[in-house]
Amino acid sequence: MGSGASAQKTIYLEVDGKVQKINFSPQSNGSDIKQILRTSSRLPRQASVILVDNRGTLIAIDPTIPANCQNSPYRIISQDTSSRSEKEDLFQTLLAQVTEEFTRAFRISELKREVYERLTALEHRVEAEGRRAIDIDKCKLEVKKLRDELEERSNSRLSCPCKYYRSGDIIRINPRRDVPSYPKYTLSSETIETLKKPTFDVWQWEYNEMLSCLEFMYHDLGLVREFNMNPITLKRWLLCIQENYRTNPFHNFRHCFCVTQMMYGMIHLCELQGRLSLMELGILMTAAVCHDLDHPGYNNTYQINAHTELAIRYNDISPLENHHCAVAFQILAQPENNIFSNISPEVFKQIRQSIIRLILATDMARHGDILESFKQVVFNFDFGKEEHVKTLQMMLIKCCDISNEVRPTEVAEPWVDCLLEEYFMQSDREKSEGLPVTPFMDRDQVTKPKAQIGFIKFVLIPMFEAVMKLFPQIEEVMVRPLQEARDHYEELMQLEEAMVEVQQKRAEILSGGGKVK
Ligand code: 5GP
Ligand code: MN
Repeated sequence: MGSGASAQKTIYLEVDGKVQKINFSPQSNGSDIKQILRTSSRLPRQASVILVDNRGTLIAIDPTIPANCQNSPYRIISQDTSSRSEKEDLFQTLLAQVTEEFTRAFRISELKREVYERLTALEHRVEAEGRRAIDIDKCKLEVKKLRDELEERSNSRLSCPCKYYRSGDIIRINPRRDVPSYPKYTLSSETIETLKKPTFDVWQWEYNEMLSCLEFMYHDLGLVREFNMNPITLKRWLLCIQENYRTNPFHNFRHCFCVTQMMYGMIHLCELQGRLSLMELGILMTAAVCHDLDHPGYNNTYQINAHTELAIRYNDISPLENHHCAVAFQILAQPENNIFSNISPEVFKQIRQSIIRLILATDMARHGDILESFKQVVFNFDFGKEEHVKTLQMMLIKCCDISNEVRPTEVAEPWVDCLLEEYFMQSDREKSEGLPVTPFMDRDQVTKPKAQIGFIKFVLIPMFEAVMKLFPQIEEVMVRPLQEARDHYEELMQLEEAMVEVQQKRAEILSGGGKVK
């Protein structure tokens, strides 16, 4: 009948390149229609059927299925499930999801790279135009726009594709504040002069000032020119470094500053600018800046005994130093923080190897070995021999790392309080967790002179004396203050002992006197 014929629904389906006309009655339900579609496409009964139009849009398979015309037929996407287990299906689905996630993450990182490349170019322009006093507001606006765009894209990364990268593992690679919040300081000529000396007072500067001093050192040594660094990237990298030092009593950003400032001082004192290449100086300075990044405040012994994540990750082999180094290169892996982005991959590879070697050399467990290998070469030292220079670089970073006692007493002594505070935190934790307590960290056993005398006599003086064989000028400036510090703490020790004796006598007299009378 006419009415029956008009109620029938017709769709067009493309199968193997040919268009088929398919009629079905309005009484057909979804599974009836699916079966008709399977039959038309010669698919088995179990096959799953997905219907799409010529734009790839999914079409619901039910009686409301929209009619189409012959020149825009539907297509079937099917999977023959008859030969495939459910597990395989699930696997395929998961695989598709993971692939999609990776593609997304990849696209985002590509986008990020692109935006930063444009940003870097603009920043160069801002720098250049700023110097020529041309209107830079437009450029700044563009930089801001790009930054916002990047921020938005970074935030759109909803999930990390790798399940094993736990949120706790992700460090604060990107600084919370950016370059504009870091004012430009003009260092006085007096500051510039004292910055080169171990007598520099490291306590009177706040973070921004220390950042400016570090920035100045990179410019002053010619490292910015040598590595063709973007000056804004240098600022941003330094900010990021500062934010990736924790606020531990001792292993904090001020310690990083001290070590780097001492390196800068030794470069001048030992006249290394005439003896080492700019690349070698850049390696020394950068290793110093990065050497304790993200230090958790508990040393390797604790990490190993407590089976921390770091100890497990690095198989008990210098877990902290490996971590500092890994964080350093995670930071440099961010285009916006990469001060070495304008050098060739070969040179970067060399720099990376050397920085790793230097940071790993700061593990005091290797102190004896490194000192010995330096002593082997110091008497016939040759700046032309790579092996000799490598050993010297390791000695230099080690010297700077533990050089607080080279500084004037009023600068050095507060550092001992900071170190003991951190030590006590560790020994308290070891006690509470039932771990072996490191004796020199125990608040019941250590005092300031006790902590310093042995360290100065058996670690610091022998090490600086070995370096003195190569650079006699450090005797006056570094070894002498160490001897004075040793004498100062020995006096303090005698005082302490005398106090204890007096207290004991007093107690004896009081108790003995009580008995007699
Ligand atoms: P780090 O790389 O951890 O900064 O320095 C190596 C280690 O040397 C420190 O963790 C600390 O145990 C030791 N150290 C550095 N300076 C001093 C110091 O002035 N006194 C003592 N007793 N130990 C120090
Ligand atoms: Mn250190």
